[in-house]
Amino acid sequence: AKRVYWFGGGKAEGGAVDIALLGGKGAHLAEMASLGLPVPPGLTITCDCCHEFFRNGKKICDDLKADVLAGLKAVEKETGRIFGGSERPLLLSVRSGSRASMPGMLDTVLNLGLNDETVQALGHDAGDARFAWDSYRRFIQMYADVVMGLDNEIFEEVLEDEKGRLGRQHDTDLSAVEWQHIVTLYKRLIEDELDESFPQDPHVQLWKAIAAVFSSWHNARAVTYRTLHRIPETWGTAVNVQAMVFGNLGSTSATGVAFTRNPSTGEKALYGEFLANAQGEDVVAGIRTPQSITEEGRLASGSEKPSMEKLMPEAFQEFRGICDRLEQHYQDLQDVEFTVERGKLWMLQTRTGKRTTKAAMRVAVEMVEEGLISEEQAVCRIDPPSLDQLLHPTIDPRVPRHQIGSGLPASPGAATGEIVFTAEQAVAAEAEGKRVVLVRIETSPEDIHGMHAAEAILTTRGGMTSHAAVVARGMGIPCVVGAGSMRVDLRNETLTGAGGVTLRKGDIVTVDGSSGQILKGRVAMQQPELSGDFGKLMAWADRARRMQVRTNADTPQDARSARSFGAEGIGLCRTEHMFFEGDRIHAMREMILAEDEAARRAALAKLLPLQRSDFTELFTIMHGLPVTIRLLDPPLHEFLPKTEAEIDDVARAMGMSPDFLARRIDAIHEFNPMLGHRGCRLAISYPEIAEMQARAIFEAATEAAKATGEPVELEILVPLVSLRAELDYVKGVIDAVARDVWKETGMEIGYLAGTMIELPRAAIRAHVIAETAEFFSFGTNDLTQTTFGMSRDDAATFIPTYQRKGIIEHDPFVSLDFDGVGELIQIAAERGRKTKPDLKMGICGEHGGDPASIHFCENADLDYVSCSPFRVPVARLAAAQAAI
Ligand code: ADP
Ligand code: MG
Ligand code: MG
Repeated sequence: AKRVYWFGGGKAEGGAVDIALLGGKGAHLAEMASLGLPVPPGLTITCDCCHEFFRNGKKICDDLKADVLAGLKAVEKETGRIFGGSERPLLLSVRSGSRASMPGMLDTVLNLGLNDETVQALGHDAGDARFAWDSYRRFIQMYADVVMGLDNEIFEEVLEDEKGRLGRQHDTDLSAVEWQHIVTLYKRLIEDELDESFPQDPHVQLWKAIAAVFSSWHNARAVTYRTLHRIPETWGTAVNVQAMVFGNLGSTSATGVAFTRNPSTGEKALYGEFLANAQGEDVVAGIRTPQSITEEGRLASGSEKPSMEKLMPEAFQEFRGICDRLEQHYQDLQDVEFTVERGKLWMLQTRTGKRTTKAAMRVAVEMVEEGLISEEQAVCRIDPPSLDQLLHPTIDPRVPRHQIGSGLPASPGAATGEIVFTAEQAVAAEAEGKRVVLVRIETSPEDIHGMHAAEAILTTRGGMTSHAAVVARGMGIPCVVGAGSMRVDLRNETLTGAGGVTLRKGDIVTVDGSSGQILKGRVAMQQPELSGDFGKLMAWADRARRMQVRTNADTPQDARSARSFGAEGIGLCRTEHMFFEGDRIHAMREMILAEDEAARRAALAKLLPLQRSDFTELFTIMHGLPVTIRLLDPPLHEFLPKTEAEIDDVARAMGMSPDFLARRIDAIHEFNPMLGHRGCRLAISYPEIAEMQARAIFEAATEAAKATGEPVELEILVPLVSLRAELDYVKGVIDAVARDVWKETGMEIGYLAGTMIELPRAAIRAHVIAETAEFFSFGTNDLTQTTFGMSRDDAATFIPTYQRKGIIEHDPFVSLDFDGVGELIQIAAERGRKTKPDLKMGICGEHGGDPASIHFCENADLDYVSCSPFRVPVARLAAAQAAI
């Protein structure tokens, strides 16, 4: 295979499409050269050679050397210079450049080819000895760092000492002779430190530099960066060997970086910085404060220093033209590097510029308006999860933060409030009009009402799929979990954080669910903006997508916010949440503790009007849209007290002895509640529960239809079915109640009775279940649990280990396991449709808001995805991208 690709002089052997082979930098240098832009000529050694290099025990093979030397001949011809030459010496930059952008992670060596002779020739040729010695000392410093492993700092120390001795403030103030002296000191330093002298042979320098750049692929910071960004180790880096151009050739020379549009706001305005009389590294190194490229930028920053626009108008105009041209060509915001050598502009790099979500939106929308890209392209430009940043208030990045702890960023957004330590305190404080942050060691279903009342939730235990995390995400409440460095003392009601800062109940704390930070006190926030660019982009996304996006909503508040986010119905309403609220828990407990059917029916009669009014409100909000209501699902003891103290309280409130209550609780204890008496099994044991729920649903639907003049599309969902006979039985109960209510109200409410597909048996027997079921809803949380035989609530104890040991890549509760759980979904969809070709199918559960899982659902031809309200825009966008 070809090892070396040439670029320069308006031609190139590769191009932007060769990114895997030439790396991003090399591919785009080639592309720019082909476009006829001023790019210093050079050659790119392919990423494949990086593998070869490591296979050869870190040796550059002779074939590669020969190819590089041949390429160098061409560079010499193009530039009219000779590498190592004693008249017009050619200097080189040896630059890394992998397939994925890894800014600053890999190494680069500039000014290569200088030695005690060529430095004289360079000075002579440029007519500037100061420049030549400045370049030489830069080269020694960089080469020693990258190739010889000598820390840059010890050179900086020498430089600072000399500047102090000479009374010079800036590097640019030093004369040729002074730089020459510093070069002598540098070379001596290397000999002292390493017992070896600085290599004088330019070819030795070249081979060693190439080897060092290849080797930098495995340096510690690059390895860490790759792990964080999931960049495969196997990609390797290319090496670009390129003719140097000089930004340090006096005041008509400069070097800089720019974005073709503002990367933080998206504004269409060239945005960048440069330094006169400097080389590349100086801009980022922060030795001098860079100046703005444009006049506009200079004025905005209030800087006195002249802009490039003023200082070098010709080079600037050419540069601006090139930036426009690059945007036109790449149809996206570019991040570029350039150098001006004595008034002549050179382009050194271009790549797609990173930007904030806000900027990404604005750039995409404006590029459509400029006719640069299509609406569909614009939709594909936004990373769906990044929308989260926009939907919640965020901490103003300009204000100082007093951080007292951190945990996992479980649910995005930031909020401030008074600390409370129990759900009851949260509810009480909210009733007084206070804003509170609920601080717990961990949360459980009994805390739901308190979580609802809180502005934010903080737990010191648990992972990204812990109860607090899942519920908070569902509610759209900012949440940080697993803040292990913080201590909650429930008895004394204190929260202790970093540096022993102790906060008490009522103290103000700010939770940043986007970063995981916990801050002391109140912090200024920025409110989300959902109109404008966001609105336009979402409208385009809606036009492009096929699947419906529904929401999982249990409360009127959820339903309202989901509708405002564009939900097209409710895909899952979990009725059990309704039973935890306020006094209802008492009636619920009476029902559960009842010893016979009569007592149970009496308690259910108390619950009926409560459920009915909940449903009426929900149906009224969602009128005209489908609403899927799931019958009671969790095991009953979730509603019962657990600790002795709680049992005492509840027994007293219910007028029974604590002993009796404890015995009843014992009697319904289960070893594996997740696999126990729950789901449709409850409706089969106690049909009166399903009857009550069905009645509440139908009566509410009738009421809402009368009130709004527009009925909901009612769907009743039977959970945890594995046998068709189970569904037949429960559907029988529902159908009977429907007929009764029709008769009583004189109004026929249409409905579908369907089932959750959340057990492997149901998936496999889907064709049989579909004979009864009128729709399927894939409950991927339970389906994942039961397919893997792994409890979601306990998975946090071993999934991280699995990930660390490379046994599993993703947490299957976060991103759908396509191979296993996914295949079950495909089987069920296929078999279900065999029985009923139009069987409606959707997915609910955490995966409904995960872009990768949404892609899967598109391919499985599902009709809708359902996710938590705040994920609705993410899902709309992801569904559109999946369809495009
Ligand atoms: P990174 O990937 O870390 O940005 P680069 O290879 O882009 O590393 O090099 C860093 C800087 O070195 C560039 O921004 C540029 O200023 C300077 N540089 C690289 N190649 C050349 C060259 N051929 N001539 C002049 N300066 C160069
Ligand atoms: Mg660069
Ligand atoms: Mg389930």
